[in-house]
Amino acid sequence: MKNVHVSLLAWFEKQGRHELPWRKTNDVYHIFLSEVMLQQTQANRVAEHYYPHFLQKYPTLQDLANATLDEVLSDWSGLGYYSRARNLHKALQLCINSGLPTSMSELQKLPGVGRYTASAVCSFALNQSVAVVDTNISRVLKRYFALMDEKLVLHKAEEFLNTKEPTKHNLALMDLGSLVCTPKNLTCKLCPLSLTCKGKNEPEIFTLTKKTQYENLELYLGVCLVDKKLALVKSSDKLYKDLYVLPPVEPIEEDFIASFKHSYTKYRITVSLYKTQTTPQEARYFSYEELLQAPISSMTKKALQLLDK
Ligand code: SF4
Repeated sequence: MKNVHVSLLAWFEKQGRHELPWRKTNDVYHIFLSEVMLQQTQANRVAEHYYPHFLQKYPTLQDLANATLDEVLSDWSGLGYYSRARNLHKALQLCINSGLPTSMSELQKLPGVGRYTASAVCSFALNQSVAVVDTNISRVLKRYFALMDEKLVLHKAEEFLNTKEPTKHNLALMDLGSLVCTPKNLTCKLCPLSLTCKGKNEPEIFTLTKKTQYENLELYLGVCLVDKKLALVKSSDKLYKDLYVLPPVEPIEEDFIASFKHSYTKYRITVSLYKTQTTPQEARYFSYEELLQAPISSMTKKALQLLDK
């Protein structure tokens, strides 16, 4: 095991993604924020905009906890999976006086925090000896140990952990999965684990993934302008909870304006826009300037761009 650990860390020193901004800090709040953002989102999108923007606007845990949920959702706009932002906000409010917990078990009591996020914080911020398993690491371990059973991955990760350099070890495996042992077109000849890898002859059979089942949705949304202000309602459905959206309407053919396609998580949505005079009682009216600051989803932004044309 020792030789493999040495090769892996030597590869990481040369090839690792050391430039990622959350790799240059061990601040617990900064790492926690980055890990929540990185769930389901590519690292470059987070690194280029969202992570620096949030740290500039909310430099401390207290700053983010004290912001309104509307403000946080508005800053999160475009990153998707808005439940992450709601849980992040709630979690920080719970820790506003004590600071974030520093143990796996306490971190996992916070809303939206599972084993992965807790282990990432304990490893990357606190240098604790815990195995981190994300999708990249899981793929590497399944192939390296030729594991057909998903349930064995965590156990193997713990056995394989380099307890002298746990943080670098976890980061190295993560980068290896992202850069070398990729889902397709992997480059075993560049891999520091190739000499002892049990799965390198048929790597794909250890990482067969289920095809995502997409669901088609049709939405009919109303466009109601009063004194150049647009009516939006706060959504209560699970897709866009707490975000402002165009109100649903009954489609009437002569009021049709335009339609467009939008993809969000597993949904393939066809959105059709209709002129309307009637809006729900709870509708709020936004001027153009207010819309720029409002917590709205990418789908609503797309609708606004279409209406702008
Ligand atoms: S040798 Fe190939 S299959 Fe094995 S861990 Fe390295 S890249 Fe993955």
